[in-house]
Amino acid sequence: MDASCPHCGGKGCNVCKGTGWIEILGAGMVNRHVLSGCGIDPDVYTGFAFGVGLDRITAICHGINDARVPFEGDIRFLKQF
Ligand SMILES: [Zn+2]
Repeated sequence: MDASCPHCGGKGCNVCKGTGWIEILGAGMVNRHVLSGCGIDPDVYTGFAFGVGLDRITAICHGINDARVPFEGDIRFLKQF
């Protein structure tokens, strides 16, 4: 699921990579190799995965352009709050 970029109002910016949209809920089919790696026969079963990116939503709410930055462990990042 995509949401209109709150930083540019859908006009396009560096946060949304010029698209005007930000993905906040990802989903997709599980690769058959993942299933077979778990001992599940991919010819019998298929998989569907989805997730809520709380880190991404938090980054959007706080104006953090790159959701990876809070996980880098650099204490200088916290000084802006
Ligand atoms: Zn934008």
